[in-house]
Amino acid sequence: MTTPLSDNSSPTTRSISHWVDGRLQAGTSGRSAPVHNPATGTESGRVDLASAAEVDAAVASAGRAAAEWRRASLSKRSAVLFAFRQLLHEHAEKIAQVVTGEHGKVHDDALGEIARGMENVEFACGVPQLLKGGFSEQAATDVDVYSIRQPLGVVAGITPFNFPVMVPLWMCANAIACGNAFVLKPSEKDPSASLLLAELWQQAGLPDGVFTVVQGDKEAVEALLAHPDVAAVSFVGSTPIAKSIYQTGTAHGKRVQALGGAKNHALVLPDADLDLAADAIVGAAYGAAGERCMALSVAVAVGDVADPLVEALAVRLPKLVVGDGAAEGTDMGPLITAEHRDRVAGYVDQGEQAGAKVVVDGRKADVPPDGFFLGCTLLDEVTPEMTVYRDEVFGPVLAVVRVDTFEEGLELINANPYANGTAIFTRDGGAARRFQFDVEVGMVGVNVPIPVPVSYYSFGGWKASLFGDTHMYGPEGVDFYTRGKVVTSRWPDPATSQVELGFPRTR
Ligand code: NAD
Repeated sequence: MTTPLSDNSSPTTRSISHWVDGRLQAGTSGRSAPVHNPATGTESGRVDLASAAEVDAAVASAGRAAAEWRRASLSKRSAVLFAFRQLLHEHAEKIAQVVTGEHGKVHDDALGEIARGMENVEFACGVPQLLKGGFSEQAATDVDVYSIRQPLGVVAGITPFNFPVMVPLWMCANAIACGNAFVLKPSEKDPSASLLLAELWQQAGLPDGVFTVVQGDKEAVEALLAHPDVAAVSFVGSTPIAKSIYQTGTAHGKRVQALGGAKNHALVLPDADLDLAADAIVGAAYGAAGERCMALSVAVAVGDVADPLVEALAVRLPKLVVGDGAAEGTDMGPLITAEHRDRVAGYVDQGEQAGAKVVVDGRKADVPPDGFFLGCTLLDEVTPEMTVYRDEVFGPVLAVVRVDTFEEGLELINANPYANGTAIFTRDGGAARRFQFDVEVGMVGVNVPIPVPVSYYSFGGWKASLFGDTHMYGPEGVDFYTRGKVVTSRWPDPATSQVELGFPRTR
């Protein structure tokens, strides 16, 4: 069978299957789904959708591998991670092409996603340091107490379409470094990158079965959530699904971290550097066609900054080149599906009908005729009752809400049910500090539009953007994928101990 890395078959012939026991395994459920190139609208392959029986077989394989892998020395694990990191680096071009071909994001953005994902592998390379426990010598006479962290066994990751490489790496690098076997259920919309990761893990020396891919939809997810041998589930996706994954997974006694959707606001104060703010907001609102959980979707303009800010944004948008993400010079690619494109355009319609001012209209943009394209939209005078404000739009639409004061802007942000990321643009350090202190959001940028934490911190929102109590990757990822054990140990000193050992002592 062609391996994922060597697969150069013509788009119409590609069958995307599972990776179990260290090899590709064609689906047996009889169910599959189409995968598209969103830039052309053509079907580029079909992905197998696993049945509960196929999930069961994959988890059994992972369980066998986990029993062995937990015995691998820390230096062996670290060596595999270093090799995997190197292979990701060497194959970044190929992986990025696959991502662009199924997701649509521009090539540089796909490379950026790989680089941000690789940071998590680099963090996990330090596993010997990360798994160090505590030690208390002589807690009582001849008694030492120490703590160790041990893997959970088989853990599962269920990931969204918008980062088909980075989000799996958020999870699997730490999970595997900590001694678990990891079962990935990628998005069925862009499933191919998962198989490249599988092949690279194998080339890096990871034993078969420690990294498994089960392609699928709701049926596979439900089977994983109910499976008695899956100890923990990491999920990233939309809020309604995140909530239901959390409820179902915890009801089955599993550890669950479920990251949901977002509605990220940028607060722009009158003293902000307008060019810096406008450049940053345009990149964060329209990059990846707005299909990022940390995309900025609302600009909150305070006082008299509103008119110049809207103008600065409006002049920038026509300069963005919308087209095939694989083509040189493209700034923004298509949306993931035709249905999603129409849904996003529908939010613009609703906003306009509700009284928002359409400053730049992406519905009328000159975009390639085929594929799932929508131009950039800028809406001004948006109010909190409008659906385009209330809902997660997840497309190239930026809403400007005008407020009179800093306090009003802060209240607006804190009243929103989502709380993934936010940013403030100002030259006033005191205002910025007050914002970071009082804003009820998990990740905060100060003159930084997309404050995704580096891998040695952890990633996570608050409120409806995260269900569970552990953020993803970084130190909290290590905690999530391990459980603590405390050993209380007495080794009486033969020279001084008065303790009766229960057998004749020879001196
Ligand atoms: P989604 O919720 O539709 O799908 C996510 C995963 O859940 C996929 O693997 C999918 O197959 C599975 N799934 C879908 N419906 C299901 C169901 N009914 N039952 C069980 N499983 C189901 O999300 P998406 O459209 O792939 O991704 C976009 C969403 O992800 C956005 O809401 C975005 O904000 C969010 N997201 C959040 C973060 C974060 O860190 N908070 C990061 C990336 C994306």
